[in-house]
Amino acid sequence: MTATIIDGKAFAATVREKVAAGVATLKADHGITPGLAVVLVGEDPASQVYVRNKGTQTIEVGMNSFEHKLPADVPEAELYALIDRLNADPAVHGILVQFPVPDHLSETDIVARIDPAKDVDGLHVVNAGLLASGQKAMVSCTPLGCLMLLRDQLGSLSGLNAVVVGRSNLVGKPLAQLLLRDSCTVTIAHSRTKDLPEVCRGADILIAAVGRPQMVKGDWVKPGAAVIDVGINRIDAPERGEGKTRLVGDVDFASASEVAGAITPVPGGVGPMTIACLLANTLTACCRANDLPEPD
Ligand code: NDP
Repeated sequence: MTATIIDGKAFAATVREKVAAGVATLKADHGITPGLAVVLVGEDPASQVYVRNKGTQTIEVGMNSFEHKLPADVPEAELYALIDRLNADPAVHGILVQFPVPDHLSETDIVARIDPAKDVDGLHVVNAGLLASGQKAMVSCTPLGCLMLLRDQLGSLSGLNAVVVGRSNLVGKPLAQLLLRDSCTVTIAHSRTKDLPEVCRGADILIAAVGRPQMVKGDWVKPGAAVIDVGINRIDAPERGEGKTRLVGDVDFASASEVAGAITPVPGGVGPMTIACLLANTLTACCRANDLPEPD
């Protein structure tokens, strides 16, 4: 193996420490405690775990955590009434509705209902538009986490060729915008891209946000490139015993780490950064709501 392994778990811990220090200062100097409201509809087991982790980490950095659990068959109007109350509540600075939601609800309409200033997931069209036009926005947590890891690893990103594989509103598009803002030359690839391996080989920074286990192979990677693997895929792992599974990314770690200069592992790479950035966004939202200077 030649690549440096980018330790997202350790880096996320430093982000949380900085957030905790910011929260402590807000409390001491202004008597304000940032608050994050998380809404869970239904009982999806993975979502329950995510929501629990978010709640625990929110409290650990000294913020208030407000959890709202609604039944899977909650009428749309009832969910919207809750979002309206959270929008109006001055103790709530960030609102997150855990996705996916049951089929009778529209994720697009839910996001549209959230006050953009409290949209700590950065999904509202106002925030997407602000980001795309280079203005101050709430930035989607996973792309923000990727950017932080890249800046920490590479310093300035200016002039580097970045290829983002994936064009979702959640990851690919906002990440491409962030890289552009940092003066990368950005290519966005997707399922219709011709000769994807060749496109990827041109990347100084290669991001995989696809949702296909181990798709990006070592011979797609330019020697020395920084590879950020956003994918989280559960695959069968018979070598661990019958019925066992394990998590892998969208990058074939074994072959890519022979070629890359630096690479994120799965798990322990981008994943831990997502909640850390959610907390950072909540602190930012709280500062903005109170006309206070934002944390760096
Ligand atoms: P989406 O399914 O919304 O988007 C996937 C993108 O990959 C689409 O743009 C699609 O192209 C593209 N794609 C699919 N197949 C191919 C292919 N064969 N070749 C090239 N491009 C392809 O996924 P998300 O963006 O939401 O998530 C991507 C991955 O990141 C998933 O594994 C998800 O679990 C993970 N994830 C991880 C997070 C974390 O905290 N680490 C947070 C969020 C997501 P097209 O548009 O043409 O269909």
